Amino acid sequence: MLSFEEGILPLEDLADRLHRVWAPISHLHAVANNPQLRTAYNNCLPLLARYQTEIAQNERLYRLYQQVADRMPPGRADGAGAVLHHALRDFRLAGVNLPLKKKARFKAIVEELTQLQAEFEQNVLDSMTSQSYHETDLETLAGIPATVIEQAAENAREASKEGWLFELDQPTYMTIMTHAENRDMRFWFYRAWVTRASSDAAGDREFDNTDVMARILALRQEQARLVGYAHYAEYSLISKMADSVEEIRDFLQNLADHAHATAVKEFQTLESFAGRSLAAWDIAFWSDKLRLREYSVSDAQLRPYFPLDSVLDGLFAVIYKLYGLKAELVEDVNTWQSDVRFYSLVDASGEVIGGMFTDLFARRNKRSGAWMDDCIVRKKLEHDLQKPVAHLVCNFAPPTKTVPCLLSHDDVLTLFHESGHALHHLLTRVDYPSVSGINGVPWDAVELPSQFMENFAWEPEVVMLISSHYETGEPLPAELLEKLRASRIFQAGLQMVRQIEFSLFDLRLHAEYESASGDDILGVLDEIRAQVAVVPQPEFNRFPNSFTHIFGGGYAAGYYSYKWAEVLAADAWSAFEDQGIFNADLAALFRSKILEIGGTEKISDAFKAFRGRPPKIQPLLRQAGIHAPQPT
Ligand code: ZN
Repeated sequence: MLSFEEGILPLEDLADRLHRVWAPISHLHAVANNPQLRTAYNNCLPLLARYQTEIAQNERLYRLYQQVADRMPPGRADGAGAVLHHALRDFRLAGVNLPLKKKARFKAIVEELTQLQAEFEQNVLDSMTSQSYHETDLETLAGIPATVIEQAAENAREASKEGWLFELDQPTYMTIMTHAENRDMRFWFYRAWVTRASSDAAGDREFDNTDVMARILALRQEQARLVGYAHYAEYSLISKMADSVEEIRDFLQNLADHAHATAVKEFQTLESFAGRSLAAWDIAFWSDKLRLREYSVSDAQLRPYFPLDSVLDGLFAVIYKLYGLKAELVEDVNTWQSDVRFYSLVDASGEVIGGMFTDLFARRNKRSGAWMDDCIVRKKLEHDLQKPVAHLVCNFAPPTKTVPCLLSHDDVLTLFHESGHALHHLLTRVDYPSVSGINGVPWDAVELPSQFMENFAWEPEVVMLISSHYETGEPLPAELLEKLRASRIFQAGLQMVRQIEFSLFDLRLHAEYESASGDDILGVLDEIRAQVAVVPQPEFNRFPNSFTHIFGGGYAAGYYSYKWAEVLAADAWSAFEDQGIFNADLAALFRSKILEIGGTEKISDAFKAFRGRPPKIQPLLRQAGIHAPQPT
């Protein structure tokens, strides 16, 4: 009989050794891609997947965990119990108990799903690159920013065409929908966008995802049934914070009931502002104009006040005020890119808690978007501690020779958001990698620390800390600050009902599976839209065919997580609003109950321990400017 130390720690070590090799490779693949690295990376992926399945379905390992768990004295408080609990759960979810034949079937399903999900994403991409919009009349392009027109002219030249050639990529699509005055052009882009990878796509129909979706849903259903669950949603919830499909449905419905009236009013306001009834391809265009009229604050006005280095200094000041930790720049650290920096997080006694690489500028061969990733995970060593290291990655416009990197307020929010993830990873006190930092934290709660941090970037006191005009050094003027803060609730109701629509759609697809065909999938969407949607959608909309969040992977039966974690974050924040945003005792409590625990406790218990009660939705509604519906 082996003890936890003898039997389980070597396995934690093994996983950590692999992580320490693979994390840098996967990081470089994302931020410094090249053909050789890509080939090597892709060659490793199936090996890793096979290794993970082998481990997850290994009965001898399962029995070892079970034996150690049976003999573990109750009340051991260092997280060892959680290590065992998570591992045993994951063994069962991977079908470890199944008879041989079913086990093989489970494995085959996992492999086919991996491949189908990749195919789904590839079809979306390919159907985008197969379409472009060609224009030879400059008048048609009225309203579109000059830089985008320039790019389109260059595209046309490269393709030996007259005039302008617009690609169907996300930035171009967003720009056209927001700025193009020509309604026919907006309609073309809208239609192309919402029919991506469908049989209605104007481009190549070989990229139709309809059958892929049906197959994915069928396989997920079979996978869940094999290991004893009624449907995939139930299977997926075993490792989440939410307890049941009913709980999530009630949660979403409750939010929808509150937000609906506000959303309807916002849509009416928009239509009366436009002076006409609006179609889906008019919304972004008129919303942008309305926002400008209502708040008269633009990106261009704000950026000069947010040079990256001032924002970073301010962010570090916030972290210091909250947790007494200093971020110290460490010179001479070897990195993959000259502008990457490394910071140590140091406490009052001078002890280093962990470290953080920041890689903040957009460049070629770097994946778009922003994220935090763990580079090294905290782990107890024989005589020492392996300290955590985080990667904080963004894609801000780099500085030029004369102007430093200037952030939009959205960029500022992104930076605060990712720093929240980084703190979650770095401040952990858990010594076992599988439940340390963000590891083992349920998917629907992992955005709590990140969304929580965003709130600081709206506070006048914090804006004073982070803003400093790059030429004059002035902080953001009070008048601009007020406009910015007021704009936070712009169309919050419409945004909320849209997120709820996606969430309910995802949940029902995975909870009420009977048979899936393209028609069934659209039927479910229609029913949900009739229930909660406010903006009318045209009949040709094939949104599910490009819903990569749920069909490409990650968010299947988990799209609600966005809203779920937002409620947690807004409610946690409301405690700070009540007691002072830099209240040291409260920050210490948030740190010990939420940030330090990794995956060692149930998040609902942890939240209760912090807030003194279960989470409420009211703080989020208040933050979004949504008032309780009037009784009718
Ligand atoms: Zn996040």
